[in-house]
Amino acid sequence: MAQVAVMSPDGSVKKIDRDSQEGLEALRKLSALMLKAALKQEFKGIRLGEAVADEDGFHVDSDKDNQQVSADEFPALEDVIKGMAKNDVKVEFVEVPVDEALAEVKDDRFSTELINENAKDGKVAMYQLGDVKAVADDDILLYGNVVKNLRLLSVAGAYWKGMSSNPMLQRIYGTVFYKKDALEDDLKKRQEAKERDHRVIGNQLDLFFVDPKVGAGLPYWLPKGATIRRTIERYIIDREVADGYQHVYTPVLMNLDAYKTSGHWEHYRDDMFPPMDMGDGEMLELRPMNCPSHIQVYKHHIRSYRDLPLRIAELGMMHRYEKSGALSGLQRVREMTLNDGHTFVTLDQIRSEFAKILKLIMSVYEDFDITDYSFRLSLRDPKNVKKYYANDEMWEKSQSMLKSAMDDLNLDYYEAEGEAAFYGPKLDIQTKTALGNDETMSTIQLDFMLPERFGLSYVGQDGKEHQPVMIHRGVVGTMERFMAYLTEIYKGAFPTWLAPEQVHIIPVNEEAHGEYADDLAKKMKAANIRVNVDHRNEKMGYKIREAQTQKVPYTLVVGDDEKNNNGVSVRKYGEKEQNEMSQEAFMNEILEDIASYSRE
Ligand code: ATP
Ligand code: ZN
Repeated sequence: MAQVAVMSPDGSVKKIDRDSQEGLEALRKLSALMLKAALKQEFKGIRLGEAVADEDGFHVDSDKDNQQVSADEFPALEDVIKGMAKNDVKVEFVEVPVDEALAEVKDDRFSTELINENAKDGKVAMYQLGDVKAVADDDILLYGNVVKNLRLLSVAGAYWKGMSSNPMLQRIYGTVFYKKDALEDDLKKRQEAKERDHRVIGNQLDLFFVDPKVGAGLPYWLPKGATIRRTIERYIIDREVADGYQHVYTPVLMNLDAYKTSGHWEHYRDDMFPPMDMGDGEMLELRPMNCPSHIQVYKHHIRSYRDLPLRIAELGMMHRYEKSGALSGLQRVREMTLNDGHTFVTLDQIRSEFAKILKLIMSVYEDFDITDYSFRLSLRDPKNVKKYYANDEMWEKSQSMLKSAMDDLNLDYYEAEGEAAFYGPKLDIQTKTALGNDETMSTIQLDFMLPERFGLSYVGQDGKEHQPVMIHRGVVGTMERFMAYLTEIYKGAFPTWLAPEQVHIIPVNEEAHGEYADDLAKKMKAANIRVNVDHRNEKMGYKIREAQTQKVPYTLVVGDDEKNNNGVSVRKYGEKEQNEMSQEAFMNEILEDIASYSRE
């Protein structure tokens, strides 16, 4: 196995396997440092932030205001890096007196900060590459001659240290490999991911937008995106009502006291928007979760064992103050609507209710053709006393209950310590995004804590008061994340039942066939089909191509033949041929297609 020499931040050198993850990260670290050197050489006076290697590649931050780096300049920067590689550059380890190191970067507040942070006993350990120095903070490859298969990928704004109160820097991303075919493979994968990226498709299909100027993480759903969402919302409400849920609407604002009682204020404050002081002693909070609201619904009546399981559900809007660096399209937002539900059960109903919820989730996944998912049992980290509600017995009991419920169902799962909610363990259903990240979509959570804190009770068969157990669950998760996910798995070609425009009718000649097209559309609308007639004065080929780029499931062309035969010519999305058929035959086909997602 090929070995490479790697230097550690203490200046020692070791040999490691080139093809290991460490071997790759050391190469990325050196590439980042070489990019830093190239930037310094190409742009006089540029200020430089961190040069980082991570599991996805490498990146370097630089100052945006004075030195705009654009993607057009990537080839020149790559050439500088490759030139260094040809010259066999080597990393040197130097310990520099802090004053000296600071003097060298005196106009660069970012490098200054990095040096100060890493200084120890008046000195700072640095890697030196030619005339560029950077603090030694990670293992780095010693010899630069292997940095050949490198590509700079993109440039985007990133806050200094990831904090939105800090200045915005420009972050240049790159990827690098020891071998040429590994680089090519990686570039291909990235291209595929880009084509699936819901932010790109969302823009092409005009589904939604997020504009940091009007609110970072606060999405606007445009008519077409809203149509898809409305279809999903109606679908999921129908499924839940059929499963015994009672749907409610509750306010997004609530008195802060409720969140003090629930423990959110204590354990979840960092993710909450600051409370609104109404000036008369009242403090209002934008809810980060809907549980306390549904608890109010439960408490509104005296409950008996006959009411249980009581299933309260809502498409509940909530707000979470996610870090600006974590926000991503619809995938991670600050205002979201959760397909939320809370079921209140007795102790011996937990298992069957858990199984019922899981069955619902899996059946819903089937309807959406979601097949790539895994079960994660999210447990508490017993050492993290700040995050988790302290009651060992409760945790032991609920965690083992969840495990045995999963074993009962014979389902494979993996355990993740420290991923539980503060009030209890959960079963998370994990899916993969186009960029390869694992994200939670659905979740079922067991909770003995909130019923206690809010003093919930029901009258048992014995006539005495008992405490119910709460199960929190989300089936499709938030509308936002679900939409992002669907866009990626379908690559924007939504199945007919979800497609915002299901049929696009193109008259061959406006004067001769426009009316026929309108009559046809009218019939379809009466059958609840989402249809538009393209009356624009454009070439037919153009209109057909556009319907394809908009990924409309059915494009109909109507001319003389079709009009005379009361028929249509149908082109399905992604297919080349066009089929002529009668209006009735087409209506039957599309209605069958729309109804084809299986319902139990
Ligand atoms: P995460 O770990 O992803 O931040 P969480 O564990 O805090 O999520 P829950 O409190 O379980 O999430 O929220 C329920 C569901 O809400 C999640 O399964 C996920 O689908 C969704 N969700 C959570 N945070 C966001 C967000 N910022 N944007 C969009 N959807 C979200
Ligand atoms: Zn809840």
